[in-house]
Amino acid sequence: MSRPRTRARTAAPEAGLTAGMAARALRRGLRHAGLIQVKAPPALPAQNGRRPHGPEPRQIMSQPASPSLYAAREPVFPRRVSGRFRRLKWAVMAVTLGIYHVLPWIRWDRGPDRPDQAVLVDLAGRRFFFFWIEIWPQDFHVVAGLLVMAGLGLFLFTAALGRVWCGYACPQTVWTDLFILTERWVEGDRNARLRLWHAPWSLTKARLRLTKWTIWLLIALATGGAWVFYFADAPTLLQALVTGTAPPVAYATLALLTATTFAFGGFAREQICIYACPWPRIQAAMMDERTITIGYRDWRGEPRGKRGTPGAGDCVDCKACANVCPMGIDIRDGQQLACITCGLCIDACDDVMTRLGRPRGLIGYFTLTDECEERAGRPPRPVWQHILRPRTILYATLWTLAGAGLIFTLFIRSPIDIDVSPVRNPTHVLLSDGTIRNAYDLRLRNRHPEARTLALSFTADAPLRLRIEGQDGLTVTVPADQTADLRAYLDAPPESAAAAAPHTPLRLWITDPASGDRASAATYFTGKGD
Ligand code: SF4
Ligand code: SF4
Repeated sequence: MSRPRTRARTAAPEAGLTAGMAARALRRGLRHAGLIQVKAPPALPAQNGRRPHGPEPRQIMSQPASPSLYAAREPVFPRRVSGRFRRLKWAVMAVTLGIYHVLPWIRWDRGPDRPDQAVLVDLAGRRFFFFWIEIWPQDFHVVAGLLVMAGLGLFLFTAALGRVWCGYACPQTVWTDLFILTERWVEGDRNARLRLWHAPWSLTKARLRLTKWTIWLLIALATGGAWVFYFADAPTLLQALVTGTAPPVAYATLALLTATTFAFGGFAREQICIYACPWPRIQAAMMDERTITIGYRDWRGEPRGKRGTPGAGDCVDCKACANVCPMGIDIRDGQQLACITCGLCIDACDDVMTRLGRPRGLIGYFTLTDECEERAGRPPRPVWQHILRPRTILYATLWTLAGAGLIFTLFIRSPIDIDVSPVRNPTHVLLSDGTIRNAYDLRLRNRHPEARTLALSFTADAPLRLRIEGQDGLTVTVPADQTADLRAYLDAPPESAAAAAPHTPLRLWITDPASGDRASAATYFTGKGD
């Protein structure tokens, strides 16, 4: 019986792999790569209390034991909790939602024929109004400065306080909190919601679900509605939306934001924070051992056990901390990516500790360095020492400098402005009398609320002649809050230095005689170059 098998093995290299050998080799390779697994079949039933003799049978699984990249969502039913961090979250929610919904309705007098909405993104006029500040497309450096400040602010808060933005002020957190509040109001607290979730469909369940979804939809509609009011005069747009005369883009934006708010706040919730948002990954790179974050004092709580258990630590394993968590995690398992440091588990555990007559703070905000100190029985550093350290001071200094620069830029900004583009095709024209002519496209801006007559001039170390196309004088009237485009010519007399030189630097100026404001732009005159 053994001969043919030996022959087959030795013959294989010459005759090529048999199908069976190839399959075995492939399976071996896949097994090494972890794509299939060898799984023992269910144990044979014991007979008369004895296991059957012989080697354990093995079975090759043909399906890949793939680490699935998909995990079905486990619904989370956070329990109601009260405490200082819950109160802080309510306060932040009230302030952020209040600002978001009220801002488009604040009026701001900017004079006749100008929008009186304090915060307005005027897409048609290509302008952004923020109270007394007006940002034109040319002020991109202001927008860039604001983005830099926002980035530095997030760096600063993350380095000092971890994911405080995620836990308290992120729109996803705020709206999810609001949706959970509604859910609790309609369906009851955690246990009632769990019972309802597992209950078969009935009239009561359908009624509660419909009520909840209707309220969610109204909240989502108000959210989308508030957003579109930032892009048009809010009272006028509201009237148009109600009467069905608003532009289609307003309805489309409203529908899109309503749908996303409904889906993200009502159903996706913690999935957005864990899977969709890139910020948790970025934040991990900004935190260090001195960053204040949430942790469980396991050296105090473990071994956990019911009250009165001999040798047990302070944790009575009541799971209150896990039951209130909106992310559905247990902080006692250690710091996790999903934790948004909202502090609700602190409130829950503090409540339990108070009722047990034990010191609060089994779960709390602390740093990794504090953890080492506390484990060694030493007192942790004061909080201000974690917040005020070279890294956070550097972020704060950069943030302040960026802010100061932004304010300075806004204050020194002239209400009139000029952009110059030399015409490049052709760069210069030779006239019949030998004069060299250059053409320039100019854009003059008047940010004043009334029309201004601006005088055009130039400065150069060359005897040039300036002329505006289609008119005799060198003045241009620019309407209030508008720009004016025009073409100007500079002529260099024949045989002059500017006519011969390849480039002669110069500066074009506009002056507002009424206010004395001036603005200029550097450019050059292109001569023959010989
Ligand atoms: S573990 Fe605590 S701090 Fe982290 S998300 Fe859950 S409740 Fe909030
Ligand atoms: S709430 Fe406190 S006592 Fe209860 S399980 Fe959590 S850590 Fe333990």
